[in-house]
Amino acid sequence: MPMPSVTIIGAGPIGLEMACRCVSSNFSVTLIEKEPTIAGNVHKWSSVNLFSPWSMNYSPRGLEILTELKVDHPKPDSYPTGKEYVEGYLDHIKSYLCSNACPNFNLKLSTTLISSVRQNSPKTSMSSRSSSPFLLLLKDSNTNVEFHHKTDKLIDCSGTYSNPSPLGLSSQPALNERSLNSEITRSLNAEIPVGSKILLVGSGATAITFLKKIVEACENADNNVQTEVIWLTRRGKDEIYHRIPSDPLPQRDNLSVLAHTLLQNGGSNNLKLTHLQSEILSLSKSPDQWTVGLTSRTTPTVTCSTIIGATGFRPDTSIYSELQVHTCYASEGPMKLAGYLLSQSGGGGGDCLSQVSPGPELLRNPEEDFYVAGMKSYGRGSAFLIRIGLEQVDMIMGLLQGK
Ligand SMILES: Cc1cc2nc3c(=O)[nH]c(=O)nc-3n(C[C@H](O)[C@H](O)[C@H](O)COP(=O)(O)OP(=O)(O)OC[C@H]3O[C@@H](n4cnc5c(N)ncnc54)[C@H](O)[C@@H]3O)c2cc1C
Repeated sequence: MPMPSVTIIGAGPIGLEMACRCVSSNFSVTLIEKEPTIAGNVHKWSSVNLFSPWSMNYSPRGLEILTELKVDHPKPDSYPTGKEYVEGYLDHIKSYLCSNACPNFNLKLSTTLISSVRQNSPKTSMSSRSSSPFLLLLKDSNTNVEFHHKTDKLIDCSGTYSNPSPLGLSSQPALNERSLNSEITRSLNAEIPVGSKILLVGSGATAITFLKKIVEACENADNNVQTEVIWLTRRGKDEIYHRIPSDPLPQRDNLSVLAHTLLQNGGSNNLKLTHLQSEILSLSKSPDQWTVGLTSRTTPTVTCSTIIGATGFRPDTSIYSELQVHTCYASEGPMKLAGYLLSQSGGGGGDCLSQVSPGPELLRNPEEDFYVAGMKSYGRGSAFLIRIGLEQVDMIMGLLQGK
């Protein structure tokens, strides 16, 4: 009997791991990636160092593959950049999957999942859904051609990075934000415009990583080139990115120290930093100046030449909205896992290192044979780690094999 087909959405770290494991178990595997290369999202922040060391970002199967390919193993206790992670590990996994060793593997790059349904079973139909295959609507971005693809099992590893949260009040788009969206800087690979006035929005690790890049760019600039940053956060100064006592992740600790030192000193070399606790109501733009309307009574408007948006990410649930998936009203992650995360730490926050993966049952959905793994499984929560995703892959393999 032919093995069932598995389709995995997203060739990030978790989708690639899922593909390796499914290939080894003889499933017929299709991996769909919307960007022209694997790890499309990691490429978007390739210049940044991971805060988790190599040892937390590869799997036993991945290391076996490196050995088979005669590639040196990365140093477990060093911290790669996104680029080094892709080139030193993920690209090799892709080469292995695309080699003759894996005849049951098919990679479709530049292909986006638009929607998924059960063939002959609309969402409201409750009987024998699992006897119909999934029918996926895919789009090839090179040709703009849409086509169908059928699969027995579907695993969504499409992450959240492609879907940033809006900048406005309580995460609603600010007035005019949607039409000006493409002019907001969100990529950590973007060049920092030294000598200008920047509005940085957001208070998490991504926002502070932007600050780090700004500090570095200012240090490398001429002494007479002054850069001004207004750091806009919903939270008060003292609530921003708390330091974890004896943090075992030095890169994360460095971010916290940097943020608080900059706030205390009002900036650093060639950089003036002002903190503002408020929210954005409206945006408007002339050719080279933004005017930003705020909720603050004392500072109702600010102007700047660049806006950097770092307000987090949210899952795109539209791609499975016609399947029977119970999503959390708060985090928008699949409900069972979301309920567990809420009960542990009030929404997937807290120290992400202290997390323990719950059992495989929490990865099941009302829709049989459909799973969400990786960053997207945490919905809007930011505490996800690649290590957790690798554990999820292990558990989903058990479920796929009926163990
Ligand atoms: C700056 C930064 C630093 C980070 N550092 C760390 C760290 O040190 N340690 C750590 O554990 N985590 C870190 N993370 C979190 C990290 O991004 C994730 O842990 C990891 O990339 C998640 O892998 P993933 O495979 O679940 O999702 P992703 O890496 O986001 O991959 C999802 C893939 O799906 C593709 N895709 C999206 N939508 C579709 C669609 N509709 N159709 C087809 N393909 C689609 C995307 O192009 C992408 O390639 C960091 C994140 C950022 C932004």
